[in-house]
Amino acid sequence: MATEFKGGRNFLGRLPKDQDLITAIEATCLKHGVQTAVFSIIGSVTAATLGAYDQTQQVYVTFKKSEPMEIISCSGNVSLKDGKLFVHAHAVLADMRGNTVGGHVFSETTIYAGEMDLRELLGPQLERQHDAPTGLYLW
Ligand code: ZN
Repeated sequence: MATEFKGGRNFLGRLPKDQDLITAIEATCLKHGVQTAVFSIIGSVTAATLGAYDQTQQVYVTFKKSEPMEIISCSGNVSLKDGKLFVHAHAVLADMRGNTVGGHVFSETTIYAGEMDLRELLGPQLERQHDAPTGLYLW
């Protein structure tokens, strides 16, 4: 089950220091009128809120890390949920010794420095809908 999209604009840029990662991605999309996109980000954060979906309880379980960490890999997508932009991001972060944590990215995750490659996709509106079997909002 997949829909065809065409490549739109490509935005390369720096994310704002001390701001929330998810909010910054959303702000970039709002500024440029992007409704559907995929992105990847590398850089570093000063704190992060990550989590995973508890499939039994059907709730996200989150944890916070309040230390400088590298964004080893962060990728995700932008689509619509309840008619509004929705940013879905996952990341693997590493501390000074290379120990990694990872998960679904939540706010607050505070940018120290970030380089984003955002690729707009053009096609039908991609809206998330509640999926009863998983409890998630899926495409
Ligand atoms: Zn996720």
